[in-house]
Amino acid sequence: MASWRDNVRRVTPYTPGEQPHVAGMIKLNTNEDPYPPAPEVIKALQEVPAGDLRLYPDPAASDLVNAIAAYHGVSPDQVFVGVGSDDVLAVAFMTFFNSGKPIFFPDITYSFYPVWAELFRIPYETKALGEIFEIRPEDYAGGNGGVVFPNPNAPTSRLENLDTVENILQNNPESAVIVDEAYIDFAGNGKDSGVFSALSLLNKYENLLVVRTFSKSRSLAGMRIGYAIGSAEMIKAMSDDRYSFNSYTMNRTAIAAGTAAIGNEEYFRSCIAKVIATRERAKAEFTALGFTYPEPSGNFIFVSHPACPAKELFSALRSRHIYVRYFDVPRIDNCLRVTIGTDEQMEALFDFLKEYMA
Ligand SMILES: *Cc1c(COP(=O)(O)O)cnc(C)c1O
Repeated sequence: MASWRDNVRRVTPYTPGEQPHVAGMIKLNTNEDPYPPAPEVIKALQEVPAGDLRLYPDPAASDLVNAIAAYHGVSPDQVFVGVGSDDVLAVAFMTFFNSGKPIFFPDITYSFYPVWAELFRIPYETKALGEIFEIRPEDYAGGNGGVVFPNPNAPTSRLENLDTVENILQNNPESAVIVDEAYIDFAGNGKDSGVFSALSLLNKYENLLVVRTFSKSRSLAGMRIGYAIGSAEMIKAMSDDRYSFNSYTMNRTAIAAGTAAIGNEEYFRSCIAKVIATRERAKAEFTALGFTYPEPSGNFIFVSHPACPAKELFSALRSRHIYVRYFDVPRIDNCLRVTIGTDEQMEALFDFLKEYMA
């Protein structure tokens, strides 16, 4: 007998990192920023007139879009905003990956990509990262219905240089190429992170979409704000799809908070500098304990130890309410992804590791 169950769109959902609520926990498992959002954000939130919540928000989220456009020196019609970059990426998958040919992304990468591909019935092929987790651009040369990869990559924290990114663009003039720059603000010493961004290639490639988020470097994971920058034609296509799905995705508080966050460059830079300084100290501590890791370019580090199985270490840390991320999948099942927290949080982590490994 036929059943409605035969007609359900089924997908195995993405598994986000644990969001525990334990007093005194040290949460280094979902790459949140350890510092609070800019003071202007808190103020802006307090000033959102609660009475106005009866009114729909601006469907174009113009205040936020204009602030992002001015910040990056692009035209507002080149900016698309969404409910976290997950939302932006989902709309981009739906909009651009309709050729019927497989899209390409790395085998070790953001584990949401295969989930959207399945949700939208997009065929995909993964391309193995090299020995040191590097993206091999020749693997992405044509024959695909699109390309997507994060730079820096997650969970490896490895940054590819712009030549690699541009090589992929040169070899794919017929496909949309999405560069997910969730962690780009932490590349290099932070101050020079702009030189690593694919934004500088936008004028040369009309098929390039750069995706960013406020969740990591702007300390606003709880507010859910992400954006994409691309050619006006790409952004128009995404907006048409978005408006065919839900016209009002950005609520009044998110628009206000995001706009305010863009306004305080000094605070933004100082938080990034602190995270990077802590990351550099963490590298030395991990090395001293015998861990190895690809050079980290995000606000996290991907460590493994030759003598200490990651899975056991993960459980031991968890029992002390120190949360890190473990992926039980081939090639990386002896690695832990550790978010860079405050110096105090990292000190607690290293105190535990020294005791555990002694
Ligand atoms: C965290 C993350 C995102 C999504 O973050 P949002 O909170 O949805 O903006 C996207 N891509 C990568 C690689 C990430 O690590």
